[in-house]
Amino acid sequence: MKQEPESPPLVISRKVIFWRGVFHRCPNCGGHNLFQGRFALHRKCPDCGMVLERGEGFFLGSMSLNYGVTLVAFLTPVLVAALRGWIPPNAAVGLALIGAVGFPILFYRTSRCWWLMAYFYCLPHELPANRGGFDAPESEEF
Ligand SMILES: [Zn+2]
Repeated sequence: MKQEPESPPLVISRKVIFWRGVFHRCPNCGGHNLFQGRFALHRKCPDCGMVLERGEGFFLGSMSLNYGVTLVAFLTPVLVAALRGWIPPNAAVGLALIGAVGFPILFYRTSRCWWLMAYFYCLPHELPANRGGFDAPESEEF
């Protein structure tokens, strides 16, 4: 039986990718300048040049992540508090409406960084540093 060749060792480990994602850093170089302004992600990392916009629809996952975290971390506790009578129903509805809009805005940058982290955590060999410095093709070529 023929064995598959082993993957080369990772220059950037999954643990490093995880912590860089948690702290909003570039998964490839650890640079902390991923955003231009409040919400716009740089197309490429200004420090290492890694393409951050990985292709059309790549960040739909971050929107799903943002929605899920909003639902679990904010809206569910408000619903539970309202159902248990800890807060009045009208206050719960107001809080839920404000939170349903405000929480995703506040969590936007984190969800983008966590999505990048999750992608490269699952596919660490896609990182340019783990591919010998070669980045994936431009997003238009996907
Ligand atoms: Zn970088």
